[in-house]
Amino acid sequence: MSKKKLLISGGYGFIGSNFIQSIGDDYDIFVVDKRTYAANENHLNNINLKGDYFLDICNFGELKKVFQSISPDKIIHFAAESHVDRSIANPEEFINTNINGTYNMLRCALEIYDSKLEDNKKDFFQFIHISTDEVFGSLKLSDKAFTEESTYKPNSPYSASKAASDHLVRSYNKTFDLPTTILNCSNNFGQNQYHEKLIPLTIKNALNGKEIPIYGNGEQIRDWLYVKDFCNAIKMVIDLNISNERFNIGSNNEIRNIDLVSQICSILDEMRPRKDKKSYSLQIKFVEDRKGHDVRYAINSNKIKKLLNWKAKYNFEDSLKETIAFYANS
Ligand code: NAD
Repeated sequence: MSKKKLLISGGYGFIGSNFIQSIGDDYDIFVVDKRTYAANENHLNNINLKGDYFLDICNFGELKKVFQSISPDKIIHFAAESHVDRSIANPEEFINTNINGTYNMLRCALEIYDSKLEDNKKDFFQFIHISTDEVFGSLKLSDKAFTEESTYKPNSPYSASKAASDHLVRSYNKTFDLPTTILNCSNNFGQNQYHEKLIPLTIKNALNGKEIPIYGNGEQIRDWLYVKDFCNAIKMVIDLNISNERFNIGSNNEIRNIDLVSQICSILDEMRPRKDKKSYSLQIKFVEDRKGHDVRYAINSNKIKKLLNWKAKYNFEDSLKETIAFYANS
């Protein structure tokens, strides 16, 4: 039997590249990526892609040609502008890529889905939309974790653009019967992340003798999920052909930013001691808080655990050490 064709947008970014690295050769992989600053060609240089398209998903005409020439069986839509700070400084790219780009991906996907005449080809068609817990807004310390039923209350232009994209995906499912699944996951960490994000930034700045910035009082809480656990969840959703669903995915691993940064500093103190033998934590500097900074995110993953038997299986401290070693050596 021939392998199914998987079209992946944003495959050169952080999660997309980890996913492609994790998936083995079960599928034929086609990547569509504009290769923004967040992409890195080296992330996939050991992978034998069936197709590699240097393309902006906002370019509908070219995107449509690519979809038509591949006629994918499954689509995983990772491509997005993903950094909250950049969305505050310049929201336009977020509106273009995250909303209009997702709309283009859906239009192209629907055309291909409708063109697949045999039922068995239609049956395993999927559009998987990768989204974030940030669409649900911010929790108080006493609030329960977000479920799939939580109300959307996005607070940043980034999360608002992702919320809009989730709604578009839902509408293509409800109105046009496109088989979609939306995955809202918590903060991922692991290798291949662009160094503007908290964990790689902390490691790089620590080792380069620079200040390690922490927004506000550092009390904001995030649920940190190892990227390999998230990739396993995505793989399950495509292998088991789960459509017309949505899942929240997290690891019940809520950590305050200040505690995470302090933990990274103490791991580095052991792994790469400073020349003066003092702790890297001396480089921590509290800086003006991010505008509209969400206080806490927490995810209730019971649904995916129950329905698909997924669970986060990597140990947090071991994964963090592995991640730190990756950035320290790159
Ligand atoms: P990333 O910024 O590392 O990578 C994004 C990728 O998309 C890059 O390869 C980039 O070149 C590509 N891209 C951007 N604009 C494009 C365009 N117009 N056309 C084609 N390609 C384009 O992002 P990431 O952290 O890997 O996130 C992937 C997805 O997961 C995003 O949709 C993001 O919202 C979501 N997400 C990320 C996290 C996280 O912690 N990183 C958490 C929850 C959800």
